[in-house]
Amino acid sequence: MKEIFLLKLGEIVLKGANKRQFEDKLRQNVRRRMKAYGNFDVYLMQSTVYVEPMDELCDMDGAWDACHAIFGLVSLCRCRACEKDIESIYKTVEEYLGEDLDMAPSFKVESKRSDKRFPMTSIEISQEIGGRLAESHPTCKVEMRKPAYTVYVEVRDLAAYVHGPAEPGAGGLPTGVGGRAMCLLSGGIDSPVAAYMIAKRGVEVECVHFFSYPYTSELAKAKVLELARLVTRYCGRMTVNIVGFTQIQEAIRDNCPEEFFTLIMRRFMMEIAQRVGVQDGCGALITGENLGQVASQTMQAMQVTGAVVDIPVFMPLIGMDKEEIVTIARKIGTMDTSVLPYEDCCTVFTPKHPKTKPTVAQLINAEKKLDREALIQQTLESVERITVKYDDEPFL
Ligand code: ATP
Ligand code: MG
Repeated sequence: MKEIFLLKLGEIVLKGANKRQFEDKLRQNVRRRMKAYGNFDVYLMQSTVYVEPMDELCDMDGAWDACHAIFGLVSLCRCRACEKDIESIYKTVEEYLGEDLDMAPSFKVESKRSDKRFPMTSIEISQEIGGRLAESHPTCKVEMRKPAYTVYVEVRDLAAYVHGPAEPGAGGLPTGVGGRAMCLLSGGIDSPVAAYMIAKRGVEVECVHFFSYPYTSELAKAKVLELARLVTRYCGRMTVNIVGFTQIQEAIRDNCPEEFFTLIMRRFMMEIAQRVGVQDGCGALITGENLGQVASQTMQAMQVTGAVVDIPVFMPLIGMDKEEIVTIARKIGTMDTSVLPYEDCCTVFTPKHPKTKPTVAQLINAEKKLDREALIQQTLESVERITVKYDDEPFL
């Protein structure tokens, strides 16, 4: 019989009252992701999502790879389904996993029988299959405690399934169960990781990027769109709002004390991100800030930048070391793009001696020559909205 994927749900969440909503969302998400790889039947039973190919044309390897990026799943098993009798189970193990067994020095069989009508217990199934395999694979010894390879047999409602070791899923909660948030996405290492981390908690993510043409190039913009595209492997399609920031930056340069440039600019970013986000139903902002990393990332700086918004600001990287952030950036595949050397608008008018312990009163004073509201309104008039999907052509 054919290959099928069994995708296992995180258990803790299933105990809550939201079980049904969680499961429906997850099934929808898996169904949507599988579409690109052919005609799959996706159904959910016994805390497991079944992904079954409906014809020979399905791209099983592509679909399997995509399953690793779906939030809400803790482990993934690529199996062969078979009839629920011990002969078929044995035959299927031989056909499907025989080669793996020949390469491993030791093995054991672990069985699970959720269909209690099956005449053998789990232990009996393991003993029977294990005994036969030991004879047909003499170089692979039975080893109960630390086997090099484990054969799994699951006797479930519709069929029996055999598979080798499971692979870890993406974890987290299904995209869409946790509301929506707006990520301030720069071209750096941190903000794509921040977007990924909040998306992992079931939040739909939308992005905003501030762009200062001609101080920053078209390539800098393409880089940000490419970063967004890479994150959509995990969070599904997303909208990226490109906000022209030149006028605001020039107004700051011409009218404000230099030591406050970055902070004033960041206050505009936060306020504009909130306005665009709230219109789209976002209940929070996300930034890649990290305590102590740069002058604008002290707690006093965060107070003055947070003071212009009234929705929560999520900073999932706040307490991490750079190395830990880089590890995640590598894992999700954004690192190589993030380190491309295109300038960010933040670096355009960087003060020589930025204020590290500002107060809100100082900021209000430093901004007094600006007509904040007019500047924000003008900027909002020309926001460009771009929808980004993982199967788009790369932007770079
Ligand atoms: P990153 O690696 O994400 O660029 P960073 O360490 O360079 O972060 P900053 O430049 O101080 O830090 O920016 C802090 C946060 O502000 C970023 O993580 C991002 O969320 C937001 N941000 C910075 N520049 C932009 C921009 N041009 N557009 C949108 N958001 C930005
Ligand atoms: Mg940056």
